[in-house]
Amino acid sequence: ESIQVGELAKLMGVKAGDLIKRALQLGMPLTINQSIDPDTAAILADEFGYQVEKALIEEEILLQYTPPSPEELKPRPPVVTVMGHVDHGKTSLLDAIRKTDVVSREAGGITQHIGAYTVSLDGGKKITFIDTPGHEAFTSMRARGAQVTDIVILVVAADDGVMEQTKEAIEHARAAGVPIVVAINKIDKPNANPEKVKSQLAELGLVPEEWGGETLMANISARNKIGIEDLLELVLLQAEMLDLKAAYERPARGRVIESRLDKGKGPVATILVQEGTLKEGDIFVCGNTYGRVRAMFDSYGNRLSIATPSTPVEILGFEELPSAGDDFFVLEDEEKARKVAEYRQRKAREAETAKEAKISLEKIFEKLSEGELKELKLVLKADTQGTLEALQSSLVKLSTDKVRVSIIRAGIGAISESDVMLASASDAIVIGFNVKPSPQAKEIAKKEGVDIRFYDVIYHLLEDIKKAMTGLLEPSY
Ligand code: GDP
Repeated sequence: ESIQVGELAKLMGVKAGDLIKRALQLGMPLTINQSIDPDTAAILADEFGYQVEKALIEEEILLQYTPPSPEELKPRPPVVTVMGHVDHGKTSLLDAIRKTDVVSREAGGITQHIGAYTVSLDGGKKITFIDTPGHEAFTSMRARGAQVTDIVILVVAADDGVMEQTKEAIEHARAAGVPIVVAINKIDKPNANPEKVKSQLAELGLVPEEWGGETLMANISARNKIGIEDLLELVLLQAEMLDLKAAYERPARGRVIESRLDKGKGPVATILVQEGTLKEGDIFVCGNTYGRVRAMFDSYGNRLSIATPSTPVEILGFEELPSAGDDFFVLEDEEKARKVAEYRQRKAREAETAKEAKISLEKIFEKLSEGELKELKLVLKADTQGTLEALQSSLVKLSTDKVRVSIIRAGIGAISESDVMLASASDAIVIGFNVKPSPQAKEIAKKEGVDIRFYDVIYHLLEDIKKAMTGLLEPSY
């Protein structure tokens, strides 16, 4: 029994180069393709096992969370998500609210979409709005363990009444234990019937206060900006009942609301600060990546030096692009941050590889039952979600009954180490559409012999894949 050095590295989820380096330090000159005996393998594994364990302990220490003491807590603004049936006026309401912001009036109202914004009301109170209406975003965040919403504004059009998605929104808010404030919209319409809407809502358990219930409701017209201030007052009232508080004098913790790859600035993400105060220059871990806050901006593009609880900020300074719902926390030392991120990446990779192995077993079964099935596996990375979806559907359509095209991972952003490792583990080709690999990814690809191909024209990509498939069908000797 023996194992190849490269194989061992792969099993442990470490770079082959690192393994070889370590072996050399231990007085064992090895090459990537060399076979080693189990004892040597055990010694090397021990070396890295120690590392893995150390990183694990470190992450545990970092995540060991001491809840703030009551004295530390101060009131924080509520975070609100707008939900409701399609066309009932969610987007119009978010626009109307944005225009009530005193800062907006000063800034001339020029806003940037960063996924969330805070309005400062005349009395000095603030409310933060998640800028993606609807329950899909709300639910997908929750599925990732990220509950950021304190209050849901349920928009119901007064001419249309309670519809399918109105009911769904109520269910989602209830499942999350988030109180609902109702905005009965479009009261300017001649056929508006707010009383009918109230009785429909009452049937679903949302009984207005005037009828002896507990649900706060406002009649509004998002288009004509009627009743918006009253609605916001109700939101503040609801928030008061929730007694929302957070510690301010602590390293910041929060969640990713949205992320994107900016051509000039690189990875950019909007973080909702949920606790503590985030400062420019802070070092952080975020999902599987880390970084340092190079600059922070609000939704007007104003540069900020600090951000307190319930404040959404767009941040520059990520090593790699994080995902919506990822956790975010500040820690004191960059080396530590890098280690935690690396440890998390390794864990994610292991989970991914484990998943792949299962899929492969199924494929083996398929191959047996379907005869000589051949498969072309792809790891696909693109610059935008739209492109990615277009590529995915065109590529999958290239499948024939002889060769199946399967995309084992599709994502936005630069080609990362973990993309290459996945491709290596699954004998897949990596496709970069308008994106490049990170230097580390490039290095690993070379080491592991993974083919990375770059395209910026969909047609060229499809042509090449077709050719590759013909090659698979008729191997040239
Ligand atoms: P969403 O799908 O829930 O985001 O709905 P939108 O905000 O896109 O609104 C759907 C349509 O209803 C648009 O044509 C709006 O102009 C219109 N609308 C929104 N609010 C009002 C309102 O208060 N009164 C009237 N008459 N129309 C409105």
